[in-house]
Formats: sequence, structure tokens, C-alpha cells
Amino acid sequence: MSLVMIGLEIHAQITAINSKLFCSCRGNYRDLKPNTNICEICCGLPGTLPIINRKAIEYSTMISIALGCKVPNKIMFYRKNYFYPDLPKNFQITQYNVYGFSSIGAEGIFELDDSKKIRITRIQLEEDPGRIVYLEGGMNVRNSALIDYNRAGVALIEIVTEPDFTNPKEVRLFLNKLSLILEHLGVCDTLLEGSVRCDVNVSIKGGNKVEIKNINSFKEVEKAINYEITRQNSMFNRNIKIDSETRHWDDRKKITFKARSKEEEHDYRYFPEPDIPVIILGDNFVSNLQDHMPELPNQRFDRFVSKYKLSEHTSNILINDKKLADFFEATLKLYFSPMEIANFLITDFKSLIEDDIDSSDYLRNLKVKPAHIAELVKMIEGNKISRITAKDILVKIFDSGKLPSEVANNTNSFKISDEKTLMDAVESVFNTEKCAVEDARTNHEAINFLLGKVMKFTNGRADPKIAMRLINNRLNESN
Ligand SMILES: [Zn+2]
Repeated sequence: MSLVMIGLEIHAQITAINSKLFCSCRGNYRDLKPNTNICEICCGLPGTLPIINRKAIEYSTMISIALGCKVPNKIMFYRKNYFYPDLPKNFQITQYNVYGFSSIGAEGIFELDDSKKIRITRIQLEEDPGRIVYLEGGMNVRNSALIDYNRAGVALIEIVTEPDFTNPKEVRLFLNKLSLILEHLGVCDTLLEGSVRCDVNVSIKGGNKVEIKNINSFKEVEKAINYEITRQNSMFNRNIKIDSETRHWDDRKKITFKARSKEEEHDYRYFPEPDIPVIILGDNFVSNLQDHMPELPNQRFDRFVSKYKLSEHTSNILINDKKLADFFEATLKLYFSPMEIANFLITDFKSLIEDDIDSSDYLRNLKVKPAHIAELVKMIEGNKISRITAKDILVKIFDSGKLPSEVANNTNSFKISDEKTLMDAVESVFNTEKCAVEDARTNHEAINFLLGKVMKFTNGRADPKIAMRLINNRLNESN
């Protein structure tokens, strides 16, 4: 038995649909005032009936296919009963496998890397609860909390894995790959605040399982697991029994703390949702979706390597940031030079946007568009500007949104390849650097010094190849 066993329960909102799962309230609740995005259905008032969103079923089926799960012919919904303020109905409509397999996906195999596979237990479609907003100081100080039901009823996917992870790094790799798949499917914008959450269960040395809830971003998951493994190891070494319990992650203090004692499955009193009939998906439903699946990250990787001849390293950097990969391909449509454009994007361009990388719309809000990069790289390849100048021009485009050629004109940045102008520069350097000129006749190294002076004289714009030829000519002449 392996020493550490980690399983995940991931919740991802289907952000690609405009409405909630069972009503027409907005799916995107983030910019709304509290409790303004609600209706009779998502608040569960008596006499209302839920109507399921067809797109939500399609998107969750696509997720199941992408994660290697089996999709059944028919799906069912269940009521999970619990009394908690985030649920206005006192039950959540979710899926559950009681009479055989009836959730949107199950028994998946996910290839983490060449040597490791993670089993996906099941994928279910359910509604998101509302949000409890604790006031400063928390419940202990204020003795009250606020509730916002705008999120209640938003379509949510729950992905449950077997406890196949043996260390936090594998978990991080899995979550990164999962995010990329969700982004490539176009169903979940994982960068939106609260769109992905993770519960983790951790056990060591075959002991009891501890569940950690409330990890509100994938970034925090690794920290929470590391903390929990250390805590359990320390208890084990002191012969203290590790209880099966639910703990919460405090992302300010970076610790887990004990929450309510864990409910057992039977506490929820699952029963089939009487207001939603069994939904027959049919044979063609899955095969049709399979035929129209968007390109997944590993397929895109293969294409970048084979079609664009990019290195695996470069392809990985691009594909690990879907928006950057999209930007790359949009640029290629305007000017086809894959290697040059990819290198420019993953070095100069990426270093400039690094600060904004957390914002989901960072590329949309940028003033730099694919057309700018296409023109800039064309200018480098046409030997019109140097690579160093190109970076300076890029900085100016970031601020102004002007076209590279316009910036280059305004700032006199075009390379000087005109021999007469360069010869004047060489003459001027030969006049002021007499010692170096003498050196250069006997010492080849000194020629580079002269070239440096010519570059400086022309503010870095001299075409170095032509300048070097002129310097050599000039040295030979005066011999
Ligand atoms: Zn509603």
C-alpha cells in the first residue's frame, strides 16, 4: 500500500451557457448585486418545475468523453437532501448512481503521463448552491452571515477521482491538464473567480480518510495537501489516532482546520428527482458529439509539432496557455512564420504580459493584436529592424496600439543598410578611435570593438553584417 493516497472531487461551473441549469436566470452572476439573479425555480418555491438546459447536458457529455469516461444511454437526477443556508430548496438536484450507472459519465481513465493513469470514478451534472458571505471576523465574532442566491442553480460539473494520487505534484499536474481540457472544450473559463473548486481527501499509511473542503482555487490545492500530509504524519509519529473528518482550508493562514463531523452518504437521503423524468440520450447523441469535439490539448500539441515544426518545449509553453496559443494561430493566419512568431511570443511578448497573466481576459484587453505581431516579425525577417529594436517597438505598441511600421518611422528605428550612410559612420569611428584601429590591424578581436562603436554611433540601427564588411574593407584599404 502506498504511503499517501489522495483523491479529488472537483467542481467546475459550465460557464459557456447563458442561463442556470434549470431556469432562465443568468449563468454569469459575478457582476450582479446580491439576490437579484433569482427566480421562483432556483429558489424552489412551491409549484415550480425545473426545466433542464440541453446545452448543459451536451457540454457535460463532452467533458465525460474528453476524460475517457463511459456515457450511459440514459441519465437520471436525484435529490440530495440537506439543510444548509446555501440551498434555498433544502435539497440539491444532482446525480447519483443507485440503480446502476446513471450520471453523465463514469469509469474514466485519465493519462497523467506515460507511466501514470488516474481513474475517474464518475462525473455528474448538478446545480451550484448559493454563496454564504461571512462578515469580517467570521461567525464567531459577528454571529451572522450574509447569503447571496445569485449562484444557486448555476450548472456545475462534479468530477470524482479514485484515490490514485500519491503526492501533491501529481495533483497539480492533473489539475493543470484538466483546466486546459476544459478551456479547449470551451465549456469552462477556469480563470473566472470561483468557477473551479476542489475538495481533497488525504490518507496516510492506510489510515482514515480526511476530507478538505473549501479550496477555492486550483493553486491552493497543492499547499493544502502538503499541509495535511505533514499534519497527519506528525500525528502518526506521536501515536495519535487520525479521525475521519472534514476539515476546511484557510487560505489566509495556510492551514486546515476541523469542520463539522463528516456526513455519511446515507445522511443525504438521496431519492430520484420526481420533477425531472429519466432522460434518454440515445446512441447517436454521444457519437454525434464525438464527431464534433473541439481539438483537445494533446491533439493540438501533436499538430503544433508536426504542422508548424515547433519544438516540444515551445509547443508546450504555447498550449499551456490556451489564449496565447490562440493568439499565435491568429497571427499565423496573417503572416506564416511559425518558429519566428512562436519564439517572439514566448520570449519578448510573454515577458511583457507576465504581470497580467492571472486575468482571464488579458489578451482581449491588450492593445497589441495579432496584426501587430505579424507585421513586427515580418519586419525582423525582412531585415528592416533588429531583434533588439523589435522589443523596444513592442513596448511602445503595448502603450499606444499603433502599428509597428508607424512606431518604427516615428522613432527612426529602421535598420540602416544604406552603404553610404554606414560608411560615414565607419569613417567617423575610424577618426575618433585611432588606437583601436591600429590594434585591429593585428588583433582580430579589436574589430568587434569597432563594430560596437559603429552600432553605438547609429543608435543600434546599423545592419551589423554590412557594417562589419565596411570596417574590414576600410582596414584593408589603409594597410
Ligand atoms: Zn432562476
